[in-house]
Amino acid sequence: MLSEKLAKALNDQMNFEYLSAHYYLAMAAYFEDQDLSGFGHFFIVQAEEERFHAMKFYNFINEMDERATIQAISEPENEFKSYIDVFETALAHEKEVTKRIYNLMDIATEEKEHATISFLKWFIDEQVEEEASMKNIIKKLQRMGNDNHAIYTLDQELAQRIFTPPAGE
Ligand code: MG
Repeated sequence: MLSEKLAKALNDQMNFEYLSAHYYLAMAAYFEDQDLSGFGHFFIVQAEEERFHAMKFYNFINEMDERATIQAISEPENEFKSYIDVFETALAHEKEVTKRIYNLMDIATEEKEHATISFLKWFIDEQVEEEASMKNIIKKLQRMGNDNHAIYTLDQELAQRIFTPPAGE
């Protein structure tokens, strides 16, 4: 049995992960429209990862004998100023996710809820990767400037991204 506060925070995060998937699908659509299908693919895989994160919360909530409540998802940003702007928006979003995971961990720690602490550790590590992956592409794009050939090469590189759920999931 979780406290009402912790159960609500976990449920909110499940819904926030779905919101993240929604945001990233809008980014994928933006790149498809720019004929950069590799960039589009990168964000489709990112959206898939977010739905996987949401389901991890969903399953954990059920395992803890609580009830998951599905909320409405607000409209994402569909317009962007530049390719870099998309990744900067994505990085800002991931930083917000990290803040929320830390806040969840603070509640679980305060309440000495060890099962939740253990569950959240995976997300703490995952957020380091999420932020690093966005930062890495921002740096690459900054170096490229308006070099279309370099952007095309990066598009081909991003087309290779594969979604692989961790073993045992
Ligand atoms: Mg996530």
